[in-house]
Amino acid sequence: MKFTYLSYEKLLNSIIKNNYIFSDYKDNVEKAVILRHDVDYSLEKTIRIAEIEKKNNVNSTFFIMLTCDFYNIFSLSGRNVVDKLLSLGHDIGLHFDEMRYPEIIGKPKEIIDKIVLEASILSKVIGKEVTKVSMHRPSKEIIEANLTIPQIVNTYSYKYFSEYKYISDSRRRWREPILDIINGRQYEKIQILIHPFWYNDEELSLEDTIRMYVNSANRERYRNLIDNFTNLFEVMRDKDVMGV
Ligand SMILES: [Zn+2]
Repeated sequence: MKFTYLSYEKLLNSIIKNNYIFSDYKDNVEKAVILRHDVDYSLEKTIRIAEIEKKNNVNSTFFIMLTCDFYNIFSLSGRNVVDKLLSLGHDIGLHFDEMRYPEIIGKPKEIIDKIVLEASILSKVIGKEVTKVSMHRPSKEIIEANLTIPQIVNTYSYKYFSEYKYISDSRRRWREPILDIINGRQYEKIQILIHPFWYNDEELSLEDTIRMYVNSANRERYRNLIDNFTNLFEVMRDKDVMGV
């Protein structure tokens, strides 16, 4: 499967064709596919994926971080993306980065408290209850802790790895052939993790995806500075921005 929007749409169509039902974590249906997106680096990249899903009547959950260095859901542009995802009928979950809190590593109770705190903040920001958490680059310890969190589904709890076949495109690589797994129909329940970051109109290699992301940051910073620095062009011209 290619990392293109067209291939992604074809994947959704294969899932539908094989009679799987797109479901949420708490649903208990036969032939369920739970579609989950972790947003690690770019909020903007979620939109095309969300639109393709809407076009095909598919619902999914986008897991968003409060604490990352790459995007900000408190900013207007961040809020606009979240509003857009919700308006397309998708749900928002919390993407939790335990490394943000070095002082509580290995302390399950404190970790649960932080997840509950972040989920309540995220709920207020998006205006909708956040009831799911996924872990960003989880340590072995946090997975083995099998955390039970009040009012919040832990997508890394044993249940979703024992009852469900788990497939992920982490680091832009499917560990197993996803289309064969879908078309083979050997699993009753499947949890699929898709990172919108890897998908484009034309397929890009891992290296090019990362290179373009890094090298476009100067332009993004310049654009943001226009709104925050009067007459920026007198100090620095658009043509002096380096990168893509
Ligand atoms: Zn992540």
